[in-house]
Amino acid sequence: MSGTQLPAEHHPAHPSWPVFGHEWAVEYLQGALEAGHGEARRRGPRHAYLFLGPAQIGKSTLVRAFAQALLCTGDGTRPCGQCRSCRLMSSGNHPDFRLVQPVTTGGEIDRAGGMLRVEQASAVIHDAALSPVEGRYRVFAIQDAHRANDSFSNKLLKTLEEPPEGVVICLTAADRGSLLPTIISRCEVLELRPLPVAKAKAALAAGWGVTAERAELLARLCNGRLGWAVRQLGDEAAETQRLDMLQELWRLAAASRVERLDFASAAAAQRENQQLFAMLEAWGTWWRDVFLAQNGCLDAISNVDQRAEIDRQAGALPEASVRRFLDTLQRVERYLHHTVNTRLAMDVLLLELPRLPA
Ligand SMILES: [Zn+2]
Repeated sequence: MSGTQLPAEHHPAHPSWPVFGHEWAVEYLQGALEAGHGEARRRGPRHAYLFLGPAQIGKSTLVRAFAQALLCTGDGTRPCGQCRSCRLMSSGNHPDFRLVQPVTTGGEIDRAGGMLRVEQASAVIHDAALSPVEGRYRVFAIQDAHRANDSFSNKLLKTLEEPPEGVVICLTAADRGSLLPTIISRCEVLELRPLPVAKAKAALAAGWGVTAERAELLARLCNGRLGWAVRQLGDEAAETQRLDMLQELWRLAAASRVERLDFASAAAAQRENQQLFAMLEAWGTWWRDVFLAQNGCLDAISNVDQRAEIDRQAGALPEASVRRFLDTLQRVERYLHHTVNTRLAMDVLLLELPRLPA
């Protein structure tokens, strides 16, 4: 995700890594690079890494920074940001870095609906056999490995088993569940964790010049995924969309059973999956806030611009119904990821929505 790429000077803990947060992973990767430069050269970078974590948490940004460090012709242990290689990486033109993303049957990049296809694995194998153009390594970033079909995975496995000299393959995926165990076992696995609110807030202020108030709101709403917050910055409609979703939610909470079921039916029929998940996420954040307020933790809420309404609903609803709804919401989200019956799942959800006095 190039949207979260940063100028090198902005990172406080690792000045030369264009990454916010994930310090332990940066240290680990830098350690591998430094070891690779030692005299023994025995414990240098591995030939395959798997970066796990939710969407927009910073996996691809970290992979890009690692690739930059591998390819950098400076001291070879960190991305210097100055050399020809680093400049080629920043402009997205490094000949030894290859990004592989899910595509449609027509070959269009489509991260939400596309697949990693066998011909892409063939291209990786072909390119991996070539010598690097600029330096010592050839780096392949395979994004959304959970969208690989079996033929892609099986084909790639051969290269993971016997990688050509100087090849480093970095896979990113949401979780282990959707990957072949044989793929996982051949990779060094790094599981990225959500950024704490304070770090996300500081990153938004330092890296993107966001005002304190807006940084606070986005840092709390993003659930530790800086990429999500950054995307909101470039999207003026996003703020309106969030408020629209909340108002719709409040209306539904005061609506009749029939109105709720009508909404469930329309949502199941018309909405793209991604929109549906965005809505469910906004709902989850909202009810978590109400629950926090009910438990005297108003300071920990995410929707900091809606304090008064959160407080009002916290007082008007039984805590048990809010807690039960949060459980249902989690369950329904899980179902929807393994698409069962969307309509049925939405019916259950809407009927369990806490009931606000009309
Ligand atoms: Zn460099």
